Amino acid sequence: MSSTTPQKFEFQAEIKQLLDIVIHSLYTEKEIFIRELVSNASDALEKLRHTQLTEKEIFDDSLTLEINVTTDDKAKTITIQDFGIGMTHDELVKNLGTIAHSGSKAFLKALGEGSQKNASLIGQFGVGFYSAFMVAKRVKVYSHSWRAGEPGHLWSSDGSGSYEIESSEGERRGAKIVIELKDDCSEFSQEWKVKEILERYSAFVSFPINLNGKRINTVQALWLRSKNEIKDEEYTEFYKFQAHAFEEPRLRLHFSADAPLAINALLFVPKDNTEKLGLSRLEPGVSLYCRKILIDQKPKDILPEWLRFLKGVVDSEDLPLNISRETMQDRSLLEKLNKVITKRFLKFLEEEAKNRPDSYVEFYREFGHFLKEGAALDYTHKDQLTKLLRFESSLTEKGKFTSLAEYVTRMGSEQKEIYYLVGPNRGSIEAGPYLEGFKARNLEVLFCYEAVDEYVMNNVREFDGKKIQAADHADVKLADLPKPEGALSDEDAGKLVTWLKETLGERVAEVKRSDRLVDSPVLALNADKFMSPHMRRMMKAMNREGADTPLRVNLEINPRHPVIKRLFETHGLNPERARLVAEQLLDNALISAGLLDDATTMVARLNKLLESI
Ligand code: ADP
Ligand code: MG
Repeated sequence: MSSTTPQKFEFQAEIKQLLDIVIHSLYTEKEIFIRELVSNASDALEKLRHTQLTEKEIFDDSLTLEINVTTDDKAKTITIQDFGIGMTHDELVKNLGTIAHSGSKAFLKALGEGSQKNASLIGQFGVGFYSAFMVAKRVKVYSHSWRAGEPGHLWSSDGSGSYEIESSEGERRGAKIVIELKDDCSEFSQEWKVKEILERYSAFVSFPINLNGKRINTVQALWLRSKNEIKDEEYTEFYKFQAHAFEEPRLRLHFSADAPLAINALLFVPKDNTEKLGLSRLEPGVSLYCRKILIDQKPKDILPEWLRFLKGVVDSEDLPLNISRETMQDRSLLEKLNKVITKRFLKFLEEEAKNRPDSYVEFYREFGHFLKEGAALDYTHKDQLTKLLRFESSLTEKGKFTSLAEYVTRMGSEQKEIYYLVGPNRGSIEAGPYLEGFKARNLEVLFCYEAVDEYVMNNVREFDGKKIQAADHADVKLADLPKPEGALSDEDAGKLVTWLKETLGERVAEVKRSDRLVDSPVLALNADKFMSPHMRRMMKAMNREGADTPLRVNLEINPRHPVIKRLFETHGLNPERARLVAEQLLDNALISAGLLDDATTMVARLNKLLESI
């Protein structure tokens, strides 16, 4: 082999950061580098198989599609070679010198969030190719692209900031990755050790893997085997391999269907929802196969958006290998596939909710967000998804969930609507003024704690023919309760209402006697039909236009509350003082509704009121 002078390149800044952590981490499960490199070899072979479908001229076309692993315990090296698509000079620079792998990106983002547990994070993300540097003094990649006109190259790096590329003659097609092991990692040059690791993952690789010339795996597609022959551990190992996961899956669904398409599917729900942790939006994680041949690793259209948290595979023998989203016929096949899988998965969740309610609730806590997204946006599956939603309510204990169906069974015959309140947590909803009128009338109210809930409830709109209604909305009419003792008379209350309207002026749209207050003196209801308090807060947080429109609310007063009765007595005698109290009551109501934008005026006023102690 002759070669030219090596050319030196700097790694992209992000890669340097990544390498620095990978190399200095004390992460104990260093062996995952084998899984990552075998997975890359398998990807490269799959890509070659695809290229062969469309390209006539392929370099080294007679080579078998296989992966060869060799160990040398004298030289302390391990080599992983595939006859896949390989890389050209430019591809070496782009693929190994800049950040591509979504796992690596997510890993860096998690670190950016200030986490110090670097070592444990590596295992959760699987940093792809760079994991080799956990065990390597130096990594050498010999590669020849499938393109016949390109020369071969050697890429080489010790992981410290830069790498070199030189041309290298006599290379076979594909990539050969030679790892010169660090002294304390020399075990990976031992055949028995590597054999043990390969045996765990290799069953799921759809190409032959040889270790020092001996075949390790029988190529088999787990998802095509019959369910009762597969052990739990096999499923788990498959999941870890396929999803680059570290932990066991939370849920698993293995099924087949014959009509309208022949399908074998193996789906997993991971333990954690990484989007919830603030990591980037998940990419599709269910790969599409046709008779064991990978068609697309991250197909966008075989599942609805809200199922992007699923991992696994779908295999359908009714799909053409060169499926194209451009043609009507293929698109309609993909739509059918999407329908069947989604329907089946929703049925599976229904069964889980029924047969294993506790585990379903655990799942819901982690992934409920996606179900809400679907209920709000996926019209086709809305009804099924709405049934799967869970809430705390005024009748459940803290931390216990109820479904809409259960809510409906508890409704009295005169109750026509399903009520909910949005607030940051249970305590704040219970302490606010909105719930008491419902409690007094034995009406159950669902509690929603997430900012999106209001949007979701607005879109879901109804369940079982019953309207879903925000309990703090001005439209809600509650049945009369018996008149309480010692309240202001209708006439006096009427006078106070007129006075309040005059006094509060522009700040209120309407003032009226309340039919829903029991223990609080006042409450504010949203007078703007188009912007609820929560929406307003969200828009404020996002700095959106419209958040600053002057606020006007309906103020309701409780005619039997001591403060209101005192106010009635004072407003004639000491109008100035009464005005301060009225304004303060309005601000108190706004605080409860989460609508007070600026507290400075309020604090000044409150201090003035306190002077008269
Ligand atoms: P990922 O596999 O998720 O894309 P990696 O860090 O594992 O991320 O690999 C980065 C890129 O390097 C791959 O996307 C691929 O383009 C290229 N690559 C890695 N290994 C090989 C290989 N054996 N043959 C061809 N290309 C490879
Ligand atoms: Mg990879």
